[in-house]
Amino acid sequence: VTTGDIGPKIGYNNMDNGYCSFNHVWIPRRNMAMRFAVVDEQGQYSKKRTTGSSSTAAADDSAAAKVAYITMMQVRAMICSSASTYLAMACTIVLRYSAVRHQGYDGNGTTEVPVLDYTQQQYRLLPLLAASYGFHFTGQYLNRRLRTVEGNLLNGTAHKVQVTDVHATSSALKSYMTTFTADGMEECRKACGGHGFLLSSGLPELYTTYLQNPTVEGDNHMLPQQVIKVLLKLVAVVRRGGGEEYESCDSYGLVPFLRQIISGKSSNNRASDATSLDSILDAFAYRAARLLESVATLLQSQIRNGVSQHDAWNHCLVEMARASKSYAQYLILRIYIQDGTQNPSLHVQAPEVNVLTDMARLLALYWMVQDSGDFLEDGYMKSMDWARKALLVSLSTVRPNAVPLVDAWDFSDFRLKSTLGRFDGNVYEAIMDATQREPLNRSDPGPAYEPHLKRLIVGGVGAARRSRL
Ligand SMILES: Cc1cc2nc3c(=O)[nH]c(=O)nc-3n(C[C@H](O)[C@H](O)[C@H](O)COP(=O)(O)OP(=O)(O)OC[C@H]3O[C@@H](n4cnc5c(N)ncnc54)[C@H](O)[C@@H]3O)c2cc1C
Repeated sequence: VTTGDIGPKIGYNNMDNGYCSFNHVWIPRRNMAMRFAVVDEQGQYSKKRTTGSSSTAAADDSAAAKVAYITMMQVRAMICSSASTYLAMACTIVLRYSAVRHQGYDGNGTTEVPVLDYTQQQYRLLPLLAASYGFHFTGQYLNRRLRTVEGNLLNGTAHKVQVTDVHATSSALKSYMTTFTADGMEECRKACGGHGFLLSSGLPELYTTYLQNPTVEGDNHMLPQQVIKVLLKLVAVVRRGGGEEYESCDSYGLVPFLRQIISGKSSNNRASDATSLDSILDAFAYRAARLLESVATLLQSQIRNGVSQHDAWNHCLVEMARASKSYAQYLILRIYIQDGTQNPSLHVQAPEVNVLTDMARLLALYWMVQDSGDFLEDGYMKSMDWARKALLVSLSTVRPNAVPLVDAWDFSDFRLKSTLGRFDGNVYEAIMDATQREPLNRSDPGPAYEPHLKRLIVGGVGAARRSRL
């Protein structure tokens, strides 16, 4: 057995990731965890059958095979929850700093403006703040859902579509939320200007430590294939006139839109000014269903034209990623609206619900404007002008609450480890204080003075020689 450390990484260096290789090492059979699958003494592999009471449960016994995925799905759910935390920490630093940092003057030319009052800064940051809250509800939802499915698996009442559905949900969400969070944290760093480049801002360490998440537990560019593999079965079921068996599934929300698309019926109320949250959510569900159905059609047309299954699948990967992302955005917004704005058991009052609603709308509009082509290309939306205008209104609505909303996360200064994101806002004192701990600043003049600079200054560089100028 050979072991070692893999060496320094871009971040996450408090974790000593190692390597290990085995050469002719025998591990006793009793060391194998054999709750759901067994290897006998002759080396034969077999699955253990679950003890379901209903005939459907027995028929769905193969769902037990999916239990192997549960641990991975649980880790993905934890990763989704932590996406919220990391994004919220980065937002706390950048939004507090943006409220303290003043640049330029107001219209009267007298008062300096906090950079957070510039709509460009708001456009970069406030959707990230909104997402950090949306991701919080999504992480909680995913954990709850997994617990339910796991319980059903253990008592033998799990249905295969339910298990594969939660696999698609967790894969789509992990892939999209960690990509969005990593990109968003980098945007937070850039939005701090030059000071974001300081290690003492806390952002480089926070961001580089986070960066593993798009890769681990299912690479983010691989996971969409898993999502689409599951959802293509739903398309096939709806094409055959079914879909009701998906009622308890996350993907059931796509069914009415898939039916509409497959039947070729155009919607009478295609939005051009969908300002209500429900109609915006419908637009996201419709877009996810349309992109999914078009992947199914593309795949079929490739195979009909004699392309091999492997090559046809490869041909569709880019469109699969687009469909998976749109499904993730739909799920996040649905959960945000249901759990963050319409949930009576959430212990917040009407004013807080209003703030959460403002943020859900902001995030939806931001995503819609970013991918406006998806909503326009088949004529579902007639224009995006209304959404761009509504987005600007949303930014100004959320702006006054930005700092209280990051304060509400209640991250301690100890945890943020940031000169820029301090609760008291004393940014410049903190930066100066951090510089005092630098080895180069321990002596005055600095260590370069005696050996190098002194002879250039004392006596003068040009004292012995004439200037060539
Ligand atoms: C910090 C850190 C900690 C880790 N910890 C663990 C751990 O504890 N245990 C463990 O087992 N592993 C661990 N990993 C490994 C991690 O699971 C893998 O790095 C990850 O699954 C990606 O696999 P890979 O590195 O082989 O990438 P590759 O498979 O080489 O991928 C390279 C690129 O090719 C693309 N690609 C590959 N195949 C396909 C395909 N079929 N279709 C389309 N695109 C494709 C990928 O998207 C990626 O962009 C860790 C990794 C990191 C960074």
